[in-house]
Amino acid sequence: MIRDPDTLTAFLDSVRRFVKERLVPAENTVAETDEIPDDIVADMKAMGLFGLTVPESYGGLGLTMEEEALVMFEMGRTSPAFRSLFGTTVGIGSQGILIDGTPAQKDKYLPMLASGELIASFALTEPEAGSDAASLRTTARREGDHYIVNGTKRFITNAPLAGLFTLMARTDPSNKGAGGVSAFIVERGTPGITIGKPDKKMGQRGAHTADVIFENCRVPAANLIGGKEGMGFKTAMKVLEKGRIHIAAICVGVAERMLEDALAYAMERKQFGQPIAEFQLVQAMLADSKMEVYAARCMAIDAARRRDNGENVSTEASCCKLFASEMCGRVADRAVQIFGGSGYVADHGIERFYRDVRLFRIYEGTSQIQQLVIARNMIREADH
Ligand SMILES: Cc1cc2nc3c(=O)[nH]c(=O)nc-3n(C[C@H](O)[C@H](O)[C@H](O)COP(=O)(O)OP(=O)(O)OC[C@H]3O[C@@H](n4cnc5c(N)ncnc54)[C@H](O)[C@@H]3O)c2cc1C
Repeated sequence: MIRDPDTLTAFLDSVRRFVKERLVPAENTVAETDEIPDDIVADMKAMGLFGLTVPESYGGLGLTMEEEALVMFEMGRTSPAFRSLFGTTVGIGSQGILIDGTPAQKDKYLPMLASGELIASFALTEPEAGSDAASLRTTARREGDHYIVNGTKRFITNAPLAGLFTLMARTDPSNKGAGGVSAFIVERGTPGITIGKPDKKMGQRGAHTADVIFENCRVPAANLIGGKEGMGFKTAMKVLEKGRIHIAAICVGVAERMLEDALAYAMERKQFGQPIAEFQLVQAMLADSKMEVYAARCMAIDAARRRDNGENVSTEASCCKLFASEMCGRVADRAVQIFGGSGYVADHGIERFYRDVRLFRIYEGTSQIQQLVIARNMIREADH
């Protein structure tokens, strides 16, 4: 759903310009230094990128899912690390509070998230609980008006920067499944939190993940999201469902960028006396990529519109994330092929994108988990 086409077009234009003029030229520096420069972070905050999804009443831009997808198509056209910096705050880190939080929780935290004053992380994964997230072992034991949290969370994006964590922990030790899990808002300054060393990753330099360790960490009971125990896994799944459309849209943007770079190279690079773009075998790689990017774009927009219309999009969100992330991997692979040896060495940035996009098939539910979600939904619906 697009609320006001003129305002959205103006915003999309400014994001497109920002990506082209500020982010693309900084890609190599970010990859070399593993840091996003402070002035770029400040500009991102000033543009409202940290508040894209927070309602206007809390100081954000309140984008609909369709509008968010269109913005992510633009943001995807550069190194994914830039998106990652605000991605957890507009997505998985804040949406639990927005979707299921109490009015007091929303009033307290959403304005600080929208301005970028607080960066939010989403802490679900553990060393022994990845795809099987419902088996998580981190505990939150009620003691008076606090919960005592113990456990380790793994691969938490933006943990080194986060001002708050949306944490999933087990409040009912007798229930080992999803129903024993609750969601909490945990402020970084709470005693008992240690952030591990940033992980050394395959790609997306400039974006950081780390372990978050909770040792007798006392979280106020008022920070139980929604004020009700046992709802945390459901909250996490609602958050991830929306996140999957967001990731699909980013995959479309990055794939479009890689394809554009590959096309420009193919039209310029000459072999056998002619541009390699004239060779039909190269054209096949270009055409297959174009077709797949277009399909993923249509899927992301359709799922976003359906979500805006209030439909249950569990299946569509997983279809989008599965197809778009796998498509992005195939386009990256073809782009490296079109660049030939130059695609394998670091000069053109294509090998960097190839490594960067590998993550999209893994986080927010691996491709296999998306397949399971889709097939389980199909079977459940056929049973009724
Ligand atoms: C850079 C990065 C950032 C991340 N950011 C966050 C974050 O901010 N917050 C957070 O909570 N988590 C985060 N994660 C964690 C991420 O979501 C998990 O890594 C992912 O869900 C997979 O879990 P796992 O690594 O434990 O793999 P596993 O679950 O051990 O899976 C290993 C393999 O087995 C397959 N598999 C597992 N179960 C099944 C099954 N039932 N059927 C078929 N195949 C199966 C998987 O598909 C995969 O191929 C991040 C991870 C990375 C690498």
